[in-house]
Amino acid sequence: MAERKVALATAAHPDDVEFMMAGTLALLGDAGYELHIFTIGNGNCGTATHTHEDIKRIRAGEGHDAASVIGATYHEGLVNDIEIFYEPELLRQVTAIVRRIQPTVVLTQSPQDYMEDHQNSARLTVSACFTRGMRNWITHPWVEPTLQDVFLYHCQPYGSVGPLREPIMPHMMVDVSSKIEIKEEMLRRHASQKDWLDVSQGKDAYLISMREGCEALGKLAPSPVPYGEGFRQHLHVGMSGEDGDPISDVLGDLVQRLEE
Ligand SMILES: [Zn+2]
Repeated sequence: MAERKVALATAAHPDDVEFMMAGTLALLGDAGYELHIFTIGNGNCGTATHTHEDIKRIRAGEGHDAASVIGATYHEGLVNDIEIFYEPELLRQVTAIVRRIQPTVVLTQSPQDYMEDHQNSARLTVSACFTRGMRNWITHPWVEPTLQDVFLYHCQPYGSVGPLREPIMPHMMVDVSSKIEIKEEMLRRHASQKDWLDVSQGKDAYLISMREGCEALGKLAPSPVPYGEGFRQHLHVGMSGEDGDPISDVLGDLVQRLEE
């Protein structure tokens, strides 16, 4: 079982973690986990007004600010939005970060989601966890391989469907009702995104859509909860010596299993 208590959440864009995983991350923080948030993209396309350089700087600042709400360390994006490809150079860089953090619990996006950036971020994260211990997989910059067990979980895709509208049901539901205000506060820190959507979609549309998403997920639990975050766990092969589920172990009654 994992002894090191380090949790890493990865996603394509600054604010993706806040929508789908931050409640669970916050609960792990309460349980004594060191927390990290890493977005592979820098969020440069999330603007209708700013220049490339300005929005990159703004979104990195917002990422740090949001992460600080739960005491997490924020790791800034490596590439531009829409340029998150499953390719060797980016995987070398993502692996370097995973080796440096040495997480034992990793949360990431769904391998099926409406957006390629999300899907590719999930794939890069899976492979970075898989290659963390391979001496001959060269990382940029070079970081020594690490051998800790990793337990990897995929959050739900947007709307709990894949890109071809296929339903995707979580295997487990985490009751994040006690963290919904924290999630909102984290999202509020992404002010450039909130302001943009306030104008284009109505006041607080950004926060409301997060709440509605968690509400819809909470209803899927066998004993429904007000707000949920759903996950599917990656097979343990290549990730840990033995199978295990530290999130359920640590969060106890807050986790419900769904029919698989
Ligand atoms: Zn995104």
